[in-house]
Amino acid sequence: MGTYQKPVVFTGHYAAMPPAPQGPPRQIPDDYEKWYTEPIPNNRMLLSIRSGIPKEVNWALERMCRLSHNDQFVLRNILGLTDALIEWPEWYVEKGAEECSQSNLFSMSKTLATQRRHVLEAIFILRNASLNDVNAQFLATDRRTLHFLSKALKNVKADSDANTEFLLHVMDLLHSVVTYFQQASNEYLSTETLIRPLEELAESSNDRTIIITALRTLTHIISLPPNALRLTPNSPALVASVRYLPLLSDAPLITSCLDYMYAHFSHPPMVKAFLHNPSMSGTLKLLVSLLLREQQDGFTSVSLIPESIKSAPAVAITRRLVELSEEDLNRISMIPEPERSYEWMKALFAASDAEEVTQVDFWTLYRETFGMRPDEQQLHPLLSAGDVIKNVSHVFPTAQAMVLPGTPPRFVIKGITRKMVDVTEERFRCYWTRSTCQSYHFQSPKELWAHVVEHINNLSEENAACQWASCQFSSTNLATLIPHSSTHIPSPHPPVKPSSQLENVTLPTTSFPHPSPNPTTRPPPPPPNPEVVYPFASADPPSTSLTTLLIIRVLFRASFAATDSAPRADEDHFGFPGIVEEDSDEEIPDEDEDTKGQRTGRKAFTGVRKLLEDVRVKDTALMAWIGEILDVSIEEKPANV
Ligand SMILES: [Zn+2]
Ligand SMILES: [Zn+2]
Repeated sequence: MGTYQKPVVFTGHYAAMPPAPQGPPRQIPDDYEKWYTEPIPNNRMLLSIRSGIPKEVNWALERMCRLSHNDQFVLRNILGLTDALIEWPEWYVEKGAEECSQSNLFSMSKTLATQRRHVLEAIFILRNASLNDVNAQFLATDRRTLHFLSKALKNVKADSDANTEFLLHVMDLLHSVVTYFQQASNEYLSTETLIRPLEELAESSNDRTIIITALRTLTHIISLPPNALRLTPNSPALVASVRYLPLLSDAPLITSCLDYMYAHFSHPPMVKAFLHNPSMSGTLKLLVSLLLREQQDGFTSVSLIPESIKSAPAVAITRRLVELSEEDLNRISMIPEPERSYEWMKALFAASDAEEVTQVDFWTLYRETFGMRPDEQQLHPLLSAGDVIKNVSHVFPTAQAMVLPGTPPRFVIKGITRKMVDVTEERFRCYWTRSTCQSYHFQSPKELWAHVVEHINNLSEENAACQWASCQFSSTNLATLIPHSSTHIPSPHPPVKPSSQLENVTLPTTSFPHPSPNPTTRPPPPPPNPEVVYPFASADPPSTSLTTLLIIRVLFRASFAATDSAPRADEDHFGFPGIVEEDSDEEIPDEDEDTKGQRTGRKAFTGVRKLLEDVRVKDTALMAWIGEILDVSIEEKPANV
């Protein structure tokens, strides 16, 4: 509540009011108390400001700084408040700034420092108030405001913190009121008074905030239609915008630069002139880089063969199903039934309470083993499926045929499983006597080697030929046969996987069993699935990208403008009907300024083609703009030098 005490004695306006009814005090949020903003001549704040009593002035300014952005703070309602407030800034513009800068060298006098604080507070209040349209309109109708603003921009140099703050408020105030100047006092608004000083501030200031605010205010001013005529092709603001454009990571600065450029280029003569600017090509490149920097890429992959391919980790097969050897098969085939089926079961199956074999598999295996023999060996007829299955419980008393419920129900023999054999044991088997040696339960190469040496020792000197599998080595003495035979002994370590073999095995179908007992019979897998991965814009770009795109489009339009001038009459042409050619006697210049500019522009666009190809915009209409630029610039042949 500050130092304010509610007056005890009501006078004047208040005296005419009936006494307020007594009731519980209502809770009013701070700064919304009625008496501060009341439109009466003896407004408490106005009186305090006018009083000249330092304590009162301090209080009023401090309170108004807080009130000024309140929507109930209407300058027009408190008669004389604007005049009272603007006095400080006006003093500062006329001589205060000068005095302050002179005394800045030494410690500033206390009065001067207080004065300057009041200046900053007053301009801050006006700036805040002007954000409310009602106040902006009110300030714009007062010619004093325009004079003050133009003087402020001209006289105050941004060479100290206080001046920078002052100028920022001045520019913000101008931004708010300039729209209404148009209607009120257009004749006072000229290039020299407002636009030129702002352009110079943007161009020459070292202060980032000043540059941003100046460019933003300028953009607003030149966007108002009559002011477009006040633009100059070599505006210092354009120079500044082009200069700061490479600071791509400074979003607020870039935004104001881009906004200014777009407003500037919205006027055809300006963009035509820019085509002649030496920095045009570099600027275009920067604009495209900005698009690339801000785009958000996602990646889509499309598989050309939409069938899923399954791969499984490659595992070494260490166990396989037991198969009947030829010898065993011949032996068992001779036995009459039902003993034959008993022997067959004992050879291939083992009891296992938790496991089961389907009845179909069981019967099929029996039939294929004995039913497919050559006729002369089919000594005994096959048993029926029912008998074979019934015989299981004779060999394996714990096993029994049963039906497992389900859809469809499964017919199984519970309690038996196919016998497995450890493949690793077979690594060290003997292949002597052309693979007919039946010893293969060796645990190491050493044991196998000892066994093979026995074979060799049994040979006679004149018959010293290697008998390992299909080996054709022959020798004249056993002494050379022994070292040769050692080449057939496998390494103690499992074979090393070739480096070209992948970690995964690609299966022919997703349901193909893996690991399979015999991988060499596995059908080949489907061809590899080619995947095409391409990037796309995953999100809409920020607004800076859209402005950039607009600027690029404006430049593009100017560079590739259709030459719509009427054809002239010459040796090959009759000219365009209706056109009276007055200057037909004159020498026709090869190229006018516009054509030259367009040529430079086209060259610049050909230069950024490669960069533009990577630009992706989510919006299809905007993407079509890029496509249009690419299409046209591809037709454009590189200019002959
Ligand atoms: Zn052997
Ligand atoms: Zn050999």
